[in-house]
Amino acid sequence: MYLTDHTTLAQYLIEECRQIPDAADLAGLILDVALACKRIAKAVAMGSLAGVLESEQTVNVQGETQKKLDVVSDAIFRHSTEWSGHVAAVASEELDHYRPVPPAYPKGRYLLAYDPLDGSSNIDVNVAVGSIFSVLRAPSDKAEVEETDFLQPGTAQVAAGYGVYGPSTLLVLTLGRGVVIFTLDPGLGEFILTKSDLKIPEETQEFAINASNSRFWEPPVQRYVAECLAGQSGPREKDFNMRWIASLVADAHRVLIRGGVYLYPRDTKQPSKPGRLRHLYEASPIAFLIEQAGGAASTGARRLMEVVPKTLHERIPLIFGSSAEVERIVAYHREPSEPDRESPLFTRRCLFLENK
Ligand code: MN
Ligand code: MN
Repeated sequence: MYLTDHTTLAQYLIEECRQIPDAADLAGLILDVALACKRIAKAVAMGSLAGVLESEQTVNVQGETQKKLDVVSDAIFRHSTEWSGHVAAVASEELDHYRPVPPAYPKGRYLLAYDPLDGSSNIDVNVAVGSIFSVLRAPSDKAEVEETDFLQPGTAQVAAGYGVYGPSTLLVLTLGRGVVIFTLDPGLGEFILTKSDLKIPEETQEFAINASNSRFWEPPVQRYVAECLAGQSGPREKDFNMRWIASLVADAHRVLIRGGVYLYPRDTKQPSKPGRLRHLYEASPIAFLIEQAGGAASTGARRLMEVVPKTLHERIPLIFGSSAEVERIVAYHREPSEPDRESPLFTRRCLFLENK
């Protein structure tokens, strides 16, 4: 019964960290992050009442117009995490450069990279938004953190997760020992464990992609989507549904709960930006969660978790979800596509291959 029997985030973290070698301070850091998520959830829920939905007159390093809530959420993340002695430096979507902890505070053992408010461009329509974070180890052998210290592959992550601010506020977390979900009890102000050992369903009939970019997609992605759209009468011999919330956190959460596949593939829209999502604080943590839930995450060409970022704000193609689907898409990248000339959907001049 919930009233007498529940596991709080603090209890979970303390028990888990006993099992993880060299996890000193990790529980404390995740609790700091959880506090940031609760504060942001509260600001999001207040919405227009707190005057945080308007756009600022500023753009971030990505060239995106910042919402007041982007800036507020970034400040909340920094203020919740940098005082405690758990982190040595943070990197944020909203900061041009990484930020070492101010000299007044002790320097911690971890680096924290985050997207303080993911999906913020859709916040005016009141869809679920969230915060994504990734925890890396700080170098122990030097006095000052440098930007290159953040440039670690996804496999080096110590922890990753996201908060999602929807009908309920959730914290989805991995410490590398499976994926767990906590639900915020707003009365207690505590995250309570509501799902352990989350596994992505293998069988799927859903795919998620921004179809308005189809003319820019690479051929293996065009082939995969064309086969889904062909439904029962196509090579997949079943009908699919398309889902697209355009908020990575909300789309990733659906894939974790319900299975399916999400694609923001390499495209030719802006050759200087081979993907849309940011490697360090969007793609890496989502890939870690997905793999820990039994799924797969790829750039199309290789396992995303093994790719070493070159810069703090680098973008990367991201395809993730149920492993059989991701493996199929990766296989299409490996083999030269052989369109079925019988069906107009699979010819070179089909809906998805035209305009190349
Ligand atoms: Mn953001
Ligand atoms: Mn984002």
